Amino acid sequence: MAPSSLAVAPPPRIDMADLAAYPSERRIRAVAVAGEIVRVAWDDGREGRFHAIWLRDNCPCPACRHPQTMERQFLFIDAPPPVLATAAPTMDGSGIELRFAATADVPAHVSRFDAGWLRQHCYAEWARAERCKPPRLWDAALAGAIPSFEHGAIMTDDAALAAWLEALCETGVTIIRNAPSAAGEVRRTAERVGPVRATNFGLVFDVVSLPRPNSSAYTAIGLEPHTDLANVRRPPDFQLLFCIANRAAGGGSFIVDGFRVASALRDADPEGYGLLARFWRLLREPRFQLCFRLSPGEMIAFDNLRILHGRDPFDPGTGERRLQGCYLDRDTVMSRRRLLARGRGNG
Ligand SMILES: [Zn+2]
Repeated sequence: MAPSSLAVAPPPRIDMADLAAYPSERRIRAVAVAGEIVRVAWDDGREGRFHAIWLRDNCPCPACRHPQTMERQFLFIDAPPPVLATAAPTMDGSGIELRFAATADVPAHVSRFDAGWLRQHCYAEWARAERCKPPRLWDAALAGAIPSFEHGAIMTDDAALAAWLEALCETGVTIIRNAPSAAGEVRRTAERVGPVRATNFGLVFDVVSLPRPNSSAYTAIGLEPHTDLANVRRPPDFQLLFCIANRAAGGGSFIVDGFRVASALRDADPEGYGLLARFWRLLREPRFQLCFRLSPGEMIAFDNLRILHGRDPFDPGTGERRLQGCYLDRDTVMSRRRLLARGRGNG
């Protein structure tokens, strides 16, 4: 017998009309109904509880969900509360099948759910904890170990792009190296993720010392740790700051993990944490600050709602210092991450 014939065929998947991948090696072991709750047990011992009305609302069949747009067509607000008649695992354990009873105005309905999709959408506390990757907090000890990526790889390789965005979301800051030191490169890099978030400063902005500055960024003075555009209703989520020239004396950059400082404040002074007092002084403490000097061709990408950034004063008479930056919205970053994950399939 050829070895290949020994391979176990993967269980047939139930089409959940969901563009996101919903991989799972786990099958359904048992299903039980208690009132309005459907209890699902996977074969690794994990259990989830789903409300019957939630399952009815998420039925993926072509009558309930548009087969092309995958948008919801069944609106439970137009129907009487669903009455669950039976719930059971499918024959091969690759999912569950629910039968909703007919009522005066609504015919009976059958809904099927894939085991992996249920696992991915399980709202039990353990399942949410399993899916949610907590932010990796850091302080000055991260020096020399900021997650670093090659520009060329990010621009041409989807796996490198996915790894960069994952690190950006987890650590809040990343360095991209060896980009061509040319104006516009920062925008080209950001557009590898999605549309750039424009602000009143334009699609990209040049951090240079100007004779008539309309922002402290366009002077040579030092900048306290800050996040950008905190004065607007929707500040940009991520910032890319690209070094084109850095020959001026001074002008070192620094960044601080606001989450890490907030956690230190909570430990040291729970009451102060409540008031967020003392916070600025902590941001200035060297133990939290990661100081570095960007070289031409280097781009820093960071979470503008988490990471504070600043710089030392510099002397514009000693040489050119030119950084170019732009912003990305979180929706754009998360959308690209989902598209990249979709490309990897249900595995
Ligand atoms: Zn349906």
